[in-house]
Amino acid sequence: MSSEKIWPPGIRCAAVFSFDNDDESGMIDSFGPDKMFYVSQGYYDMNAGTWRVLRILERQNVKATFCMVGKTAEKRPDVVKAIRDKGHEVAVHGWDHRPYYNMKEDEERKDMQMTVDIVQKILGKRPVGHRTPDWNPSKSTVNILHEMGGFIWRGDGLDNDLPYVHKFSDKKNIVELPSAVTLDDYDNYAERGYSPQEVFELWRDEFDVLYEEGKFYCLTMHPLVTGRPAPSKTLERIITHVKSHEGVWIATAAEIAQYWLSKHPE
Ligand SMILES: [Zn+2]
Repeated sequence: MSSEKIWPPGIRCAAVFSFDNDDESGMIDSFGPDKMFYVSQGYYDMNAGTWRVLRILERQNVKATFCMVGKTAEKRPDVVKAIRDKGHEVAVHGWDHRPYYNMKEDEERKDMQMTVDIVQKILGKRPVGHRTPDWNPSKSTVNILHEMGGFIWRGDGLDNDLPYVHKFSDKKNIVELPSAVTLDDYDNYAERGYSPQEVFELWRDEFDVLYEEGKFYCLTMHPLVTGRPAPSKTLERIITHVKSHEGVWIATAAEIAQYWLSKHPE
């Protein structure tokens, strides 16, 4: 399938800039509640990182997707509203950032429901997208999302360069929007120790190949990482690079999923 048949007329490649608002929950999930060296870095998300990211997105006129941890939303409804008020999508990312792969199904369902409920309470609107903490869903995750209703996308797949559809008999299908560890900021900065310059070059090369092939580019970032001063310049540079190409559709995850469901239901 050529890119003209995949994307809307005139579009060669689609790009999503997504952010996971892990805040301290992600650090507690990884390192425990007592290691303040990590927990303190988690606080940077709500205190400073998200705000810097919002300023960059506004300056660049880019609409992004933010995946909120439920506890983060409960703690800082003002940030959830600020994200929405700037025109971005608010999706969900687990209640306290525990991944689902080793949860019992009931526990997983309850975790998701609490997270949806808090976002709905703050914004008066139900989120339509979900990314499992640590990209580690259970075998039941997509079915639970379907049962709960209202979800049109999830971002757990690391297995493709294009969106694809999880089909259900009632046709309330869910689009998978794949990303990649190479397109994650935490993996590159914290796990691999890359510099902001190296991360920019990696993200630029990934984009250039996907653009050439007419595919889908989904960056997965964290305000507690990319919201830091030097990494924030990498965000600004990669947005500028993506925007310098003709025929790139920069959209929220929900916009891509809606399009995909209407054009590629199979
Ligand atoms: Zn996360």
